[in-house]
Amino acid sequence: MTETNWAGNLTYGASALHEPASIDELSALVAAAPAVRGLGSRHSFNRIADTTGIQVSAAGLPALVEVDAAGRTVTVSAGLRYGELVEDLDRAGWALHNLASLPHISVAGAIATGTHGSGDRNGSLASSVAGLELVTADGSVSTVRRGDPDFDGMVVSLGCLGIVTKVMLDIVPTFDVRQDVYEGVSWESIADNLDAITASAYSVSMFTDWSDAGAGQAWLKSRADVTPPDEFFGGRPATRALHPLPDESAEFTTGQLGAPGKWWDRLPHFRLGFTPSNGQELQTEYLVPRPHALAAIDAVRTLASVIRPLLFVSELRTIAADGLWLSPSHDIDCLAIHFTWRMQVPEVTALLPALDDALAPFAARPHWGKVFESDHDRLLAAYPRLNDFRTLADRLDPEGTFTNELTSRWLDR
Ligand SMILES: Cc1cc2nc3c(=O)[nH]c(=O)nc-3n(C[C@H](O)[C@H](O)[C@H](O)COP(=O)(O)OP(=O)(O)OC[C@H]3O[C@@H](n4cnc5c(N)ncnc54)[C@H](O)[C@@H]3O)c2cc1C
Repeated sequence: MTETNWAGNLTYGASALHEPASIDELSALVAAAPAVRGLGSRHSFNRIADTTGIQVSAAGLPALVEVDAAGRTVTVSAGLRYGELVEDLDRAGWALHNLASLPHISVAGAIATGTHGSGDRNGSLASSVAGLELVTADGSVSTVRRGDPDFDGMVVSLGCLGIVTKVMLDIVPTFDVRQDVYEGVSWESIADNLDAITASAYSVSMFTDWSDAGAGQAWLKSRADVTPPDEFFGGRPATRALHPLPDESAEFTTGQLGAPGKWWDRLPHFRLGFTPSNGQELQTEYLVPRPHALAAIDAVRTLASVIRPLLFVSELRTIAADGLWLSPSHDIDCLAIHFTWRMQVPEVTALLPALDDALAPFAARPHWGKVFESDHDRLLAAYPRLNDFRTLADRLDPEGTFTNELTSRWLDR
């Protein structure tokens, strides 16, 4: 098989990719295979979705977007990409609380890695999961709901517990959002005002290349009826639409300059139907507990001279705490420090241990779907429920059907 991930930095080692059209077909596949991994839209940058056995995609299962207005939830088929469900949901009068930078990713794949957007009061996408249906190693179908004993361990699963077939998500009434971009917020201003900056809109993202200038762009996503500031902590309002990467077209990005739009057309940075980000890239991200945010930024700045030659851009975002065991924002509000690297695999790989060492003192937690070098002991220190998750995986998947080389290393399992 010669299937690659979205970025093309790796070719999966799986023997076959299956896309069953029914739960019965999926159950039979899983029950018969000694090694299986779920595959989403392939947007992860490491081998988290790989296996020596078969990959199974939930994208061929019947599409489902079923709103329960009274319960304020929507149940969706797990293989759907967010971009494929948001308009149906919106037409029914509802919204999700947040989205990642791109709508191209599958629901199952996003929640398995703790994928997030931005906003002081916005938890990760996994935090809005109210229930799951999954096919476990013996081929049987299980459901779990928020409040059930294993639930907090099962949502951010790294794909280790089974093939997720349906996901129930919390919904909120639909809302319109405006997006305003500011240019030039200095490091001094960020140091003096970080909490005020990140609290100043529904979702705030700052983009930096780690030069002494600070954040070249700050993207504010606000409710459409909010009047944005004339100046943003020293930053000036952009006078034309911008892409976070200076050489890329703003045509790829969601509407800016304050034009109101639907939540699903403003909360992501990138539009479905266009290449998100650069395409020829790698990504790394660490979530740092908010009390350490400024110290962690300073620690990364000390590496600026080795980071900058390999970098397209970095993004700083905030994420609210959730209770999910393997969520990078488990139990504490976080600042996310993200790196979009040039596709220089050996050079980036060589830099990753230094980055991990620089951020380890701040209990930084790596994003599971991006490239990083953290060993089991380091992950155990950062994720206090890691061993509880291992025990859960041992119970739900005793033969290790859904384990792969990477998760086995991370979990020491
Ligand atoms: C351009 C770009 C921008 C990004 N922006 C963000 C961002 O804003 N915020 C952020 O947090 N991350 C971001 N990411 C990372 C991305 O959201 C994660 O890597 C996410 O997990 C990818 O989802 P996917 O559907 O592609 O899953 P895959 O990469 O295919 O798989 C990810 C994991 O999900 C598991 N999985 C997939 N489907 C199933 C299933 N049905 N059942 C069980 N397990 C399953 C896989 O086994 C694997 O463990 C970005 C990535 C790219 C390429």
